[in-house]
Amino acid sequence: MPNMSLKKNIMPTQAPEIRNSNFNEVALGYTKEQAIDEAKRCLNCKNHPCVGGCPVKIRIPDFIQKVACGEFDEAYKIISESSSLPAVCGRVCPQENQCEGKCVRGIKGEPVAIGRLERFVADYHNENCDKKAQKPVFNGHKVAVVGSGPSGLTCAGDLAKKGYEVTVFEALHTAGGVLVYGIPEFRLPKAIVKKEIDGLCDLGVDIKTNMIVGKTVSVDELIDEYKFEAVFIGSGAGLPKFMNIPGENLKGVLSANEFLTRINLMKAYKDGSDTPVMHAKKTVVVGGGNVAMDAARCAKRLGSEVYIVYRRSMEELPARKEEVEHAVEEGIIFKTLNNPVEIYGDENGFVKSIKCVEMTLGEPDESGRRRPVVKEESEFVIDADCVIMALGTSPNPLIKSTTSGLETQKWGGIIADENTGLTSREGIYAGGDAVTGAATVILAMGAGKNAAEAIDEYIKNK
Ligand code: FAD
Ligand code: SF4
Ligand code: SF4
Repeated sequence: MPNMSLKKNIMPTQAPEIRNSNFNEVALGYTKEQAIDEAKRCLNCKNHPCVGGCPVKIRIPDFIQKVACGEFDEAYKIISESSSLPAVCGRVCPQENQCEGKCVRGIKGEPVAIGRLERFVADYHNENCDKKAQKPVFNGHKVAVVGSGPSGLTCAGDLAKKGYEVTVFEALHTAGGVLVYGIPEFRLPKAIVKKEIDGLCDLGVDIKTNMIVGKTVSVDELIDEYKFEAVFIGSGAGLPKFMNIPGENLKGVLSANEFLTRINLMKAYKDGSDTPVMHAKKTVVVGGGNVAMDAARCAKRLGSEVYIVYRRSMEELPARKEEVEHAVEEGIIFKTLNNPVEIYGDENGFVKSIKCVEMTLGEPDESGRRRPVVKEESEFVIDADCVIMALGTSPNPLIKSTTSGLETQKWGGIIADENTGLTSREGIYAGGDAVTGAATVILAMGAGKNAAEAIDEYIKNK
């Protein structure tokens, strides 16, 4: 009998007043009983619209039916046919716009909690299965991957499974891309990312860290001197944007990327960490996406009073709904329909306050969202000793400037075929944020997957 409850099984979480001062994971995960009960809400629809909402087309009803019968290992096998990072996607995918956004149970109530079930299955597998992946037989071909974010890792894993010798070149000292330096521990524990990366290494993927492609070695050298037959570029979009308003160079103004990297990658929140981080009294985070929510929630955990200043309204916040709800519960103060115009400093060059103006929403712009318009004579000042800019990022121009014949868009994105990732240079493929600009983990994974298929075809037919 299906479970016809209109509501999802509630996800157990740490209480807001406790979690807002620690970095442990907020959502604690379903128990076996909760997972089975939730899986029984799935109607196993003939047309399975949920699958159409998943960029990597996981056979959702099939894995959920296995969960409903308690066959968790079988469920894992089904998910891993399509996804190499299920414990990650179950936690961070914007499910409300993807798989769950298409679920028929969402018409009259809440959709099936597909993401939570995927997380449960992946965690169950990680906790209960010690079996290492077998390294496939080498097929005689070498491929290089630039960047170890979700796009690079997925491309590397899929090619390794086909017998390729894959070397990943990563600029930072730790593999994982945004999964390790951007998304905080309380949303995505780093031990989970490491476990998924260890699985790829078991398949034979060789990850070389501290290798900046374009400085330590160029893409041209990888092909001409090191004889890689194809290269996949998954170097992300890690270059932060600023507002270009007066006062942005004051001490205490920083990009969300720098703030989050100090906290997540360098563990600056821990006593005894080599990397310092500012413990501000009052922080203003500018922006409304996932990055802004993460920066705000980290600042809160460091003991600051935190404001989010966003120029549109709560309805237009681009961050995941769950992240906004969690931020509100944790005591972050939202100043929506406000925009900063100047940052003021004290006599020593430290931030002391930020001047903002109120906004109203005008006619829709080219993105379809209503354009924010400044309200006359609406200036006001918020006292703050730290301002974090979370306004989006773009690809770093280093690879483009050091690779011959690689074409990019004006804003820096590498031009690559939508289906294969092929760039303007034969044998060079690209995907993820380096091509699309800042997007999502699952879209980056999908691009890595498509490129792995295309690279395999290219090398086989060469
Ligand atoms: P990245 O993850 O950026 O990885 C690129 C890697 O390439 C990095 O490790 C970088 O060091 C390396 N690199 C760059 N240049 C070079 C070079 N020259 N040589 C060698 N290596 C290089 N998405 C979601 O779906 N859900 C979320 O909740 C979510 N939250 C986010 C929160 C934050 C704070 C941020 C910043 C992003 C978030 N995203 C989220 C977006 C998501 O993380 C990205 O879309 C995704 O990680 C892109 O993957 P990628 O492989 O293209 O690049
Ligand atoms: Fe949904 Fe993401 Fe899992 Fe696909 S990978 S089923 S979109 S949670
Ligand atoms: Fe199950 Fe919802 Fe998919 Fe239907 S749309 S198969 S109910 S998850």
